[in-house]
Amino acid sequence: MIQDIAPKHLDITYHSGQPEEDSLVLFFREGTLLVLCRPDGENRIRFPEYLDVKEFCEKPAYLFSLEERLFFRAELQQGADTAPLLERLQRKYPLEQALFCKRSFFRTAAPKEYAFAAVTGLHLNGWYEKNRCCGVCGKPLAADEKERMLFCPACGNTVYPRIDPAVIVAVTDGDRLLLTKYRGREYKKYALVAGFNEIGETLEETAAREVREETGLSIRNLRYYKSQPWGFADNLLVGYFCEADGSTQIRMDPEELSAAEWVKRSEIPVEPEDMSLTNEMICRFKLDKE
Ligand SMILES: [Zn+2]
Repeated sequence: MIQDIAPKHLDITYHSGQPEEDSLVLFFREGTLLVLCRPDGENRIRFPEYLDVKEFCEKPAYLFSLEERLFFRAELQQGADTAPLLERLQRKYPLEQALFCKRSFFRTAAPKEYAFAAVTGLHLNGWYEKNRCCGVCGKPLAADEKERMLFCPACGNTVYPRIDPAVIVAVTDGDRLLLTKYRGREYKKYALVAGFNEIGETLEETAAREVREETGLSIRNLRYYKSQPWGFADNLLVGYFCEADGSTQIRMDPEELSAAEWVKRSEIPVEPEDMSLTNEMICRFKLDKE
């Protein structure tokens, strides 16, 4: 999965320090992230060093560290002229192109630790972008020194990073796995039943409700598998395996899904891709491990 980068480790412990010369800078502009990318089509990325771009970093904010390298966030204002920054990058990094990339680009970016850093940075950046002002009184929010939190100096309101918990549910029936396809999304491949946790609901209840709503099935023997930080959609994903209980007749919700079908283990048309929990769970069943 995207977060499985051992022996490397993305350390998200918060600090309020300043960048060092070799710190890496993530420049964000309107929900995209600037990367340096070799033009060979392999999506190998890296990020500029603070030393090379420091005059373009207004109020850099600490994000996380990876192998002792500190990562900082720098924001490019909407409509800002990025030409001087891009010229600088071209001069300092002549073998690479500087590109502003959307989140989905990082599903196929390498190395994996940088793809994970990029997506985690985009998740954090989205939170900063959406919380410039206090939701209670409307005054500007300030960053706390000790923890990753924004607070309102006027009314005391505090805002913590937003993470949306969601479940992924692999429903099995003997040698068959329930595969689905989402309707109206960029992601077109086979998936598992998935959905957001609602306020007042346990994750186990979310799993049962989502399976019922999307496919009309009841489930039993729900077992936790693994979780995954999924910055592509600001989620924490929680994966479960379970079995269909009673009727295996699918009544698909056509508003959520374009397909929902039982597929035999030997006929599952999904190959390992080492990024998503969904893929790992489907491949685990395919290899007869569940
Ligand atoms: Zn306030």
